[in-house]
Amino acid sequence: MKVAVLASGGVDSSVLLLLLKRNGVRVLPIHVNYGQLAEPKEWAALKRFCRAAHLPTPVRIQANGLKLVPSGLTRKSRHWRGNPFFPGRNLILAAVGASVAFSKGFTTIAFGFIANALYPDATKGFIDVARQSLSESFGSEIQVIAPLLPFNKLEVAEMGRSSGAPLGATYSCQLGTSRPCGRCSSCLDLKKLKEVSRPASRSKLAVRQRILR
Ligand SMILES: [Zn+2]
Repeated sequence: MKVAVLASGGVDSSVLLLLLKRNGVRVLPIHVNYGQLAEPKEWAALKRFCRAAHLPTPVRIQANGLKLVPSGLTRKSRHWRGNPFFPGRNLILAAVGASVAFSKGFTTIAFGFIANALYPDATKGFIDVARQSLSESFGSEIQVIAPLLPFNKLEVAEMGRSSGAPLGATYSCQLGTSRPCGRCSSCLDLKKLKEVSRPASRSKLAVRQRILR
């Protein structure tokens, strides 16, 4: 099986890349620069993670004209800080990611979505509609998958750790500063993770094996 993974350089999509590889999947990491403030750090983190985890070199797609879309991901101002929703982002990522993936012989794309989605375009419903839409657009079957959807952030990090994922190579702050800001929603997620971190249970690992097969 071959899967192109939309990869940000953050924990979720990085763990997904590694778990797919460990399950015998040939992966292609695809990173999109849609003008997000953190893009240079994200790209550097993704390359670092792929090197450390012996994954293929990622592909970078430049679409940074989209930085004109105001969002907490593209604006530093206090006004936008609490609102990291970028309208239509994952539909854009699905379209450009699938297009590039298709040109390289990949007909399945994957997102690192996890449980308790904060945004309407990070859900099972979105995945189903994106698959239909891409398949219609391409005139052939395109699969869109999100194998981590049943798991929360903590479970995903545990699966990564127990699989030997070099999580220290990832980058998650929305502001793109060298030292993570500690206040954006991504930083707060990571902070919570560190507070409640514990070893993965055997049952969760068994579920992981089932889901990814
Ligand atoms: Zn931050």
